[in-house]
Amino acid sequence: MLFSKRANALGLTLECGVCGALYTSFGSGGKVDYLFSPACVAELKRTLALLKGAGIPYRVIGGGSNLLLPDEGYRGALVTLRRLSDVKICGNTVTADAGAKLPTLARIAAHASLSGVEFACGIPGVVGGAVATNAGAFDERLSDVLVAVCVLTEDGKTEVLTPKDLNMTHHFAMLPKGCVVLSAVLSLKTGEKRQIEETMRSMTERRAATQPRERSAGSVFRRVGETPAAIYIEKTGLKGLRIGGAELSKVHCNFIVNKGGATTADFFAVAEQVKKSVFDLCSVRLTYEVERICSPKRT
Ligand SMILES: Cc1cc2nc3c(=O)[nH]c(=O)nc-3n(C[C@H](O)[C@H](O)[C@H](O)COP(=O)(O)OP(=O)(O)OC[C@H]3O[C@@H](n4cnc5c(N)ncnc54)[C@H](O)[C@@H]3O)c2cc1C
Repeated sequence: MLFSKRANALGLTLECGVCGALYTSFGSGGKVDYLFSPACVAELKRTLALLKGAGIPYRVIGGGSNLLLPDEGYRGALVTLRRLSDVKICGNTVTADAGAKLPTLARIAAHASLSGVEFACGIPGVVGGAVATNAGAFDERLSDVLVAVCVLTEDGKTEVLTPKDLNMTHHFAMLPKGCVVLSAVLSLKTGEKRQIEETMRSMTERRAATQPRERSAGSVFRRVGETPAAIYIEKTGLKGLRIGGAELSKVHCNFIVNKGGATTADFFAVAEQVKKSVFDLCSVRLTYEVERICSPKRT
């Protein structure tokens, strides 16, 4: 039976040949063979079992705001957990499903007068992606408030991990191979609703004043020790460098923006030029914060 027919017979939510660009914040990438959007953990389990059984390579994605998809298309399956998006509050504990949007999480916490995730209000990712990257801003990170992560292991078991298990550091978490984040449990502090909202408003203003408005994948390069990559990039004078539809932002030089029709190749052509110039000028090797997803090799 055709793969898509088998998926339908199992009641799975599958779209074939979708445009990958629609699933990343930068907006590049070719067609994706299969896109699964399970509505619950049981459907996710059936989805992964089907993919494994059929030998089809797959990746779980979040909001696609820290990754770039291949221009030639993704010859495999992407699994998005955007339909698993509940946020539950019990006292000071917030349990957020992997597909919950970070700004929504911040708003719900604020509404309940809970402080600790204000930083998430302007990050365009979801909880699963935020755990996988230990998202943070304004000197606060998810790991500061995270107490547990519920995951689906590679062999299909549900397990609870702690931030210590994930070895979380700046914009990094070591998820065990094949683990899918299902939900995150956060311990927040009771605060004053007005103050929490004011903090979020001021963070949003600072972001708007310092970051570009065009489509991007956020910060391109990691900090070098404690030094933001932008300090080095600034020295190269490359702000405004444009290749194809990708431009090194004039507003924030650690962002590459899509000026229209940019490809992933354009993005990395700009990024590699920046990397080379920083090395030539400062003898510093920048490393990527964004993730380049490659199309899996199919046998
Ligand atoms: C305009 C803009 C501003 C940004 N500002 C910030 C910022 O201030 N701070 C910051 O930290 N980041 C920032 N980012 C980057 C990005 O939003 C964060 O890294 C975010 O946490 C990534 O979440 P995502 O859901 O988009 O993940 P994706 O980009 O979809 O995925 C990131 C990684 O997580 C994995 N993943 C996703 N979901 C799961 C899951 N359920 N289980 C297992 N693995 C999973 C993916 O496979 C991938 O490896 C910004 C991006 C943009 C475009």
